[in-house]
Amino acid sequence: MCRHLAHLGPPRTLAEILLEPEHGLLAQSYAPADMRGGGTINADGFGAGWYPSVPGARPESPAPEPVRVRSARPLWTDTSFAALAGATRSGAVLAAIRSATVGMPVVETAAAPFTDGRWLFSHNGVVRGWPGSLAAAASGLPVTDLLTLDAPTDSAVLWALVRSRLRAGDDPAAVLAETCERVEHDAPGSRLNLLLTDGTTIWATAWRHALAVRTETGIAGEPAATVASEPTHAFPDWTEVPDRHLVVACPGRHDLHPLTGARPSRP
Ligand code: GLN
Repeated sequence: MCRHLAHLGPPRTLAEILLEPEHGLLAQSYAPADMRGGGTINADGFGAGWYPSVPGARPESPAPEPVRVRSARPLWTDTSFAALAGATRSGAVLAAIRSATVGMPVVETAAAPFTDGRWLFSHNGVVRGWPGSLAAAASGLPVTDLLTLDAPTDSAVLWALVRSRLRAGDDPAAVLAETCERVEHDAPGSRLNLLLTDGTTIWATAWRHALAVRTETGIAGEPAATVASEPTHAFPDWTEVPDRHLVVACPGRHDLHPLTGARPSRP
């Protein structure tokens, strides 16, 4: 199963956030610790999206639209990305490494994050019975959304479902929660760890898969938040997100909500 991570905090290089931590996404690509549901390594591509730092922007300013790069290669083989990551700073990043589900293509466009406007999205898991089990849910989408899917994968269809509701202005927490509930109804047993950010807040579900969150209050008034499939450091202050919970995180703060209960959209 793929691994994903979102981080909000003071601007740092993508290398510091993704590649250098002792158990960061780079380490998780060849030595993941918790691949429940199958797979041994995450060699089928990777992607990273980040919000460019805008000099002089006030903290309350909306994040600019993200930049996204992705590849069908293993993260550890891509020296070009390593060079880019060392030279690129951001305070808001969402990245993923992929272990393709059997039957789904290994192509660049199947790698998360998926993006639309200010949003970045990733799915860690599998939809049971795909593609037939998603047919009913997808039949409500505009035909153009289906014709412009990133890739013929379960994750791309999930993104199309989520994206159409975000475009309609629906609450992100409700969108993720209701997408999990709908897909579980149509495709029982699915693994549905969804991860979404707009560059200022992270929303993520734990649905039959590993997820952890860590927030730092920041000694110099620079708080941060990280949500990741696996803790990236051995620090003891990671919180495991319980199964069937939604985590909503902003720098310095996170809240957990059962997916069957009320879902405030921001902490
Ligand atoms: N099923 C998705 C894909 O093949 C996600 C894979 C995963 O989480 N391992 O892209």
